[in-house]
Amino acid sequence: MSKPYTADNLTAQITQDLTWRLREISDLKSAIRSADRNLKRVLLRSMVAICYAHWEGHVKFSARKYVEHIALRKLMYSELSPQFYRNYFLPRLAALSSSKTSVAERCSLVIEILSSQENRFVKIHDDLINTRANLNSDVISDICLVCDIRGDYFEDKATFIDAILLKRRNAIAHGEDTFVHELAHQWWGNAVGPKSWKDIWLNEGFSTYSEALYYEAVSGKKALQSTMLSKYSSNFSGSLAEPGPFLFTRTMYDKGAWVLHMLRWEVGDSSFFNILRTYYETYKYSNASIGDFKSVSEEVSGKNLDKFFEQWVYGKGQIELEYVTETIKSNNEYLNRIQLSQIQEDYEEYHFPLKVEFVFKDSTEKSLRYEITSKDTLIEISTTDMPMDIRLDPDNWLLAVINIKDE
Ligand SMILES: [Zn+2]
Repeated sequence: MSKPYTADNLTAQITQDLTWRLREISDLKSAIRSADRNLKRVLLRSMVAICYAHWEGHVKFSARKYVEHIALRKLMYSELSPQFYRNYFLPRLAALSSSKTSVAERCSLVIEILSSQENRFVKIHDDLINTRANLNSDVISDICLVCDIRGDYFEDKATFIDAILLKRRNAIAHGEDTFVHELAHQWWGNAVGPKSWKDIWLNEGFSTYSEALYYEAVSGKKALQSTMLSKYSSNFSGSLAEPGPFLFTRTMYDKGAWVLHMLRWEVGDSSFFNILRTYYETYKYSNASIGDFKSVSEEVSGKNLDKFFEQWVYGKGQIELEYVTETIKSNNEYLNRIQLSQIQEDYEEYHFPLKVEFVFKDSTEKSLRYEITSKDTLIEISTTDMPMDIRLDPDNWLLAVINIKDE
C-alpha cells in the first residue's frame, strides 16, 4: 500500500479498508440466514466478535492513516489545528508526573512548549491513538479529540457501542457479566444473607447493580448509563418485596438494579456509597431484610425514604411522563415553560428528582434538578439564550418512559 500523500489517496485507502470489512460482515449475515438453528447460534456469536474486531480495526486504521497523511504534508504546528501541538506534549507531560525530573528540566520543557510552534509536525506518539482493546464511547471520543475531528457523530451511538457491541463482545471474550455478578455475591448474598426469600432483591438486585458499577469503574459514566439502559424494560412485573413463587425474575435482577440506581440519584453519590458500606458492615456474616436496608439508608442519608420504598420496592410499575415545552422571549431573557404530567395507570403519583437540561447553540449546557411531587407540574426557568433543545432525565437516572405529548 502506498503512502497517503494526497487527500484522495487517504480517502481511497480508508474506503478500501471499510469495503472489505463490510463485505465480510455481509457474507456472515447471509450465512446466518441460511444456517440451521444450532449453527445460527454460533454464527450470531461470531458476528458479535467480528463486528467488534472490524470496529476496532477500522478506527485504528483510519485514525493512523489520517495522522500519517497530515505528517506527510510536513506542516508547521502553527499551520495546523492547535490539538496537534497539544498532542506532541501530552505524553511528555504524562511521563513527568511519575518521574523525578528536576525543576530545571521541567522549566526547559515549559520553554519548549512556548517556543516550538514553528517546528514541523512529523508524527504522533503511538499511545495517543490507542483503542486499548476496549473501544468504548469514551475511548472513541479521546481518539476524535486527538485527531481533532468531531466526536459528536458517535454521541447518539454510545448505547449501541457500549451496551450492545462491547458488553456482548466482553461477555463472549471474558465472560465478564457473569463473572462480576457472581463475584459481587461475595458481599450481597454470601457475607450478608437475606432474612427470608422475600428479601431476595438484596442478593440479586445488588449483584446486578454491581455489574453496572464495575463497567462504570472500568469505562466511565457513559458505560454506567448504557449498562443500565441494557437492563431496562418497560414492563417489569410484580414488586421487589413480593416476589411470589418466581424468585429469579428480570424484575428482581434488572428492576432491582434500577431501584438502587434511583436510590443513588435520590440521595447522591456520597450518601449512596456510604449506605452500601454501612449496610455491609452492619450485617456482614448475618442476615438482613429489606426493612433493615431501608433503616440504614435513612440513617446514613438523613432522609425519610417511606415514599421511595413505597413506590419502588413495595409497589409495581414505573413512571410514565408526558411533557410539552414552550419558550417565550421577554425583554432580554427567554422564559421556558415545561408542563409535565404523570400518566401511568397503576400508580397515582411518583415523587422523584428530575434533571432538566438546556442545550444552547454553542453546545453549552445548563442543567437543574427539580423535585417532582405532584401528578402535574409546571416548571418555569429563564435563560439568557434561546435553548436549542430541552432534555428531561438526559443521564437516564429514572425508571421512566418520557415522551413529548402529541397535540
Ligand atoms: Zn445472582
